Formats: sequence, C-alpha cells, structure tokens
Amino acid sequence: MEIIHKTNYDVVIAGAGPSGAAAARGLANEGLEVLVLEKKKLPRYKICSGIIFKKSQDITEKYFGKIPSSVYVKPEFLKGVRLWSDIEHFTDWPFSNGGAPNVWRSEYDYWLIKNAGAEVRDCWSLRGFKDSGNYITLECHEVSSNETVNITSKYLISAEGSLSLIRAKLDPEFEKNLKWFIAYQNYYEGDSDLDPYFYHGFLELQYGEVYAWFSVKDGLQIFGTAVKKGFQLYPYLSKYTEMLEERFGLKLKKLVKKSACMGNDMCSTGRFFLGKGNVLLVGEAAGFLNAFGEGISCALSTGLFAAEAISKGIKSGDDALALYTELTKQERKQTRASWKLGAKIAGRDLMPT
Ligand SMILES: Cc1cc2nc3c(=O)[nH]c(=O)nc-3n(C[C@H](O)[C@H](O)[C@H](O)COP(=O)(O)OP(=O)(O)OC[C@H]3O[C@@H](n4cnc5c(N)ncnc54)[C@H](O)[C@@H]3O)c2cc1C
Repeated sequence: MEIIHKTNYDVVIAGAGPSGAAAARGLANEGLEVLVLEKKKLPRYKICSGIIFKKSQDITEKYFGKIPSSVYVKPEFLKGVRLWSDIEHFTDWPFSNGGAPNVWRSEYDYWLIKNAGAEVRDCWSLRGFKDSGNYITLECHEVSSNETVNITSKYLISAEGSLSLIRAKLDPEFEKNLKWFIAYQNYYEGDSDLDPYFYHGFLELQYGEVYAWFSVKDGLQIFGTAVKKGFQLYPYLSKYTEMLEERFGLKLKKLVKKSACMGNDMCSTGRFFLGKGNVLLVGEAAGFLNAFGEGISCALSTGLFAAEAISKGIKSGDDALALYTELTKQERKQTRASWKLGAKIAGRDLMPT
C-alpha cells in the first residue's frame, strides 16, 4: 500500500538530537503541527560521553519526565569530573544531588524524540530549502525510496548539530570562516584502575589539543582526544593510550567501536548563528556548546527558546527570530563564560582551532 505523507506543517525541524526534540516538545505543547526529519535511522548513534549535567536533568524532567532506567548504563550515576593536570595530580569537580546520569546517547535521544509529541520521520534528510517570506519550501530526501519530496512549512528549525547544511546555505561566507576540529573516541572491552564513577579529563597538551578524556560505560573503556582539522590525531592518541596503559593499568581486550566527529569554533569565539528570516538554528548548529564539550543543556534550552519564539510569532505576528535572539541572550553569555572558565582551569585556550 502506498503511504501518503502529509506535506504541510507549521514547523519542520531538521535533526532529532536533544535540540530538535526540545524544539518539537515546546511547539507541540502549543498545539502546532510539527515534523522532525532525521537523516539517520533511529535510534541513531551519537559520539558522546553521555553525561546528563544538572541543567539538562532539570529540563529533561520538566518537559519529558523522568529519564527511564533503560537509558542508563553502568555505573548509572557519576560522582563528578576528575581533571588531571598531569598524571599524578587531579582536581575533582563533584556533581550535586547524588551524581549525574550516565547514559547511552542513542537511547536517551531516542526516548526524548519519541516523547516530543511531533511526527518523526527517520532516514529522511533535508537537502535544500527556499524561504518565500510567508512559507518555506523544503527539499526532503527519503532514503529508502530514494525519492525527493517537497514539504512546505511556516518555519524551519536547524537542529542539525555542528555540521549544518542549513547554516551553510544561509550564509556561505560565515561558513567559510569557521575553523574545525576533529574529535575521536575508542570503545574497548577491557579494564583499568581509573575510578569508573568519574569522568576523567587529561589536560596535558601532549595527549590532545583540547584535552583527552576517559570514562566507563557498561564495562567498556571509552577514551578519546581531539585535534585541529588537518592535523594528525594518531600521535596524540597513541601517546595517550600508552600513558593510560602504563600509569593506570589500562588493558585493552577487544575494540568494539571507534568513531569521530567534527566541531567548530563558533562556541569558543562567541559567533552564534541564530537564523535568518523564518529559519532558526538551535543547539550546536547555532554554536551552543560549552567548554569541555558539554552541549546537551544548551541544546535543550535553545530548542525550547526557538519553540517559544515561533509560537509567539505565529500568535502575535511578531518577528520570531528577534524574539529568539532576545530569549537566548543569557545562554549565549553562559556559553562564552564557560570557555573563559575552561581556559582558566586548563591554564590555556581549550579550543585547538
Ligand atoms: C566526544 C564528545 C563527548 C560529549 N559528551 C557530552 C556529555 O557527556 N554531555 C553533554 O552534555 N554533551 C556532550 N557532548 C556534546 C553533545 O553531544 C552535543 O552538544 C549535543 O549532541 C548537541 O545536540 P544537537 O541536538 O544540537 O545536535 P546533535 O545531537 O548532533 O543532533 C543533530 C542531529 O541532526 C541530524 N541531521 C544533521 N543534518 C541533518 C539534515 N540535513 N536533515 C536531517 N537530519 C539531520 C543528525 O543526524 C543528528 O542526529 C559531547 C560531544 C562530543 C563530541
């Protein structure tokens, strides 16, 4: 039987990560018709340490409910972040209220989007769009049928993460000036002497240009590092791995997964890109990512702000982008402050770009 898809919505959101889910939840709460397009198959994998910081926990509980046990990994809660200035000395940054949830992002994000109250189509990617002022025509690609379908909406939200096709199309000049870094992460069966109840960060430059990290999830030893795009990651990673083996008894038994992603310097330079016309950007697509790579909290909050701005814009006729710009003022200030604090803690600029 042929499936007939609806082709007109109040809002279309590209991306089913936390920013897209929060935007969808906020808009659905206002009774708007929302479609979320996700280019990958859900639940989709996301390279992440999967720590739900206090602000993310609060927003999640308020808008989506209690995080279900199926989303947690072992250990379920982390006691804090342990930052190593060298291999002998560390400072602990404890988490409040019994610790921070330790989750698989694939499961947490999937639970969020299923509870967002919007129509969700996975394996659908946004390929292009045209903003005609009072409506937007979206060129959407359905992977399974290899078909291109046109959908119209009043507003479009880019919740695409750091690599945003929408941002690139809206302002190619802005995009050209971005500087990028590569983050890489290994997942191994094995063990080590590092306390699994902490997320560990190694600040010495010899292990990575941002910092090198380590955590444990369901017994897997997860560790990674980051470098400027175009630079060799392997020398840092091998030095880091050797150090973990020699100093912390890391024993690697079987490589289960390796993954990488790209990030840019919008967050650390305060060059946020909030949108143009009736197109709004949220989460990492807009440049919201805090120092040490914490980004779920600002993805959730900016998704909700975009929803509030659009809902008000639809009701009052006011400019949604101007409202969104006002609503995100504090979040932008906090992101900039986090990079300053990060640099103070690390004793150097934390963004390798
Ligand atoms: C190594 C690492 C560890 C991290 N650890 C943590 C942590 O422990 N805690 C924390 O708070 N943050 C962490 N972060 C940051 C966090 O993962 C991100 O900031 C957060 O995922 C951003 O959410 P988002 O919704 O903006 O984008 P994403 O989560 O990246 O979601 C974007 C989605 O959009 C989809 N998409 C992209 N383009 C299109 C398109 N054109 N059409 C349709 N779909 C599209 C993508 O497939 C993806 O699913 C970490 C990041 C890294 C790299």
